[in-house]
Amino acid sequence: MYLYKAKLMYYKDMKVWIDQDLCTGDGLCEEICPDVFVGKDDGLFYVKEGDKIFSEEDGNVGGAQGLAVVPKGQEEAVIESAEECPGECIMIEPS
Ligand code: SF4
Repeated sequence: MYLYKAKLMYYKDMKVWIDQDLCTGDGLCEEICPDVFVGKDDGLFYVKEGDKIFSEEDGNVGGAQGLAVVPKGQEEAVIESAEECPGECIMIEPS
């Protein structure tokens, strides 16, 4: 796990998406990192970039096609969210 974190430190930028098919709706991600994760009325959670929410309801693609750029300084919180996510559905990718 620490190797995973160390590897991410070398990424210039980080992107993140949620597989909503696996999301349990518990809201842990938003509790840990509200700048990146947000819950919607459908009971599922989505990634966002500022005001842009990556959900179809908001006119954007979600899932694997809806990659949000993680703001500087939020990387560790996003990693923690992914580690704690009970659905194991928070996916982090380099950009
Ligand atoms: S922590 Fe994972 S399972 Fe829980 S709401 Fe967020 S994305 Fe869904």
